[in-house]
Amino acid sequence: MLINISTVGHVITTLSFIAVALYAFLRQKDLHRTTRNSYLIYYAIIGISLIFASINLFRLVHEIDEIHETTLTSDLDAIAQYSGIFIQSGLILVLFASKIEVKPRSHPACVLAIGAHPDDIEIAAGASLAKMRDAGFGITGLILTRGERGGDGDTRPLEAQRGARFLGLDSVKVMDFTDTHLSADIVKITGAIEEMIDKVQPEIIFTHSAHDLHQDHQTVYEATMRAARSARTTILCYESPSVTQDFHPTYFIDVEKYVEVKVQALREHWNQRKKTYMKPELVRGKLAFRGAQAKVDYAEGFEVARMVSAI
Ligand SMILES: [Zn+2]
Repeated sequence: MLINISTVGHVITTLSFIAVALYAFLRQKDLHRTTRNSYLIYYAIIGISLIFASINLFRLVHEIDEIHETTLTSDLDAIAQYSGIFIQSGLILVLFASKIEVKPRSHPACVLAIGAHPDDIEIAAGASLAKMRDAGFGITGLILTRGERGGDGDTRPLEAQRGARFLGLDSVKVMDFTDTHLSADIVKITGAIEEMIDKVQPEIIFTHSAHDLHQDHQTVYEATMRAARSARTTILCYESPSVTQDFHPTYFIDVEKYVEVKVQALREHWNQRKKTYMKPELVRGKLAFRGAQAKVDYAEGFEVARMVSAI
């Protein structure tokens, strides 16, 4: 029996290919879980490993039989070994290059909550925004009017600031478009929302629903959709007291621990305290109703205008 460097090379190459094939076979679930085009790569690894293991094994057997003393068989030996090592290295490189990588979040996800009037955000999504704040989201509010037709236009912006501070919003901007006449300024409002989207780069926008009887709410919905036409963002439409029977939420946020937070946030809007929809029992009842739809105790419901996952 002839034992030389070539024989040792064949043994090592054969064993390494068998080991790679065995490893790929035993860890196939991990491979499929962590790799793009996993089936292609899996079969390539198994197939090529077995082919080269066989070639090297074949050459090894012939070497042991001492029948390989020609230059031609020596060349074949070299090809079987070196090309095998080369291809194996290539497979490992392909495997690493095909790993599914998810970049860890380096900054908090930003949320933009848009409302026509100073209390809209709290009424419709106050509990969700508080919960998201606690979960690490950065939240910016944008209110288009001072609410001068529905109450005191000097007091209500301050109440919007207080409500936002209570919920934990990073900031809220109250603009001065004319209450109940937003449709006349839809181009400017669209521009204002666009500007805010550029600044905040939100991953989620909360805005009014298309299924809303209030003309200002309808305008804000339309302006938001236009302003976000090119933005890579989820858009969730919230439930104002003036939504129609056609408001059908399909996205629910479980806010069980935030019911009283929402009630308290609404108390910051003292100017609106006599409105029926501000009554705590009605607020709790609506949360319970949406919760029942979502099979949890309390929830806020949203219509999905667009859902983009950043995961
Ligand atoms: Zn409103």
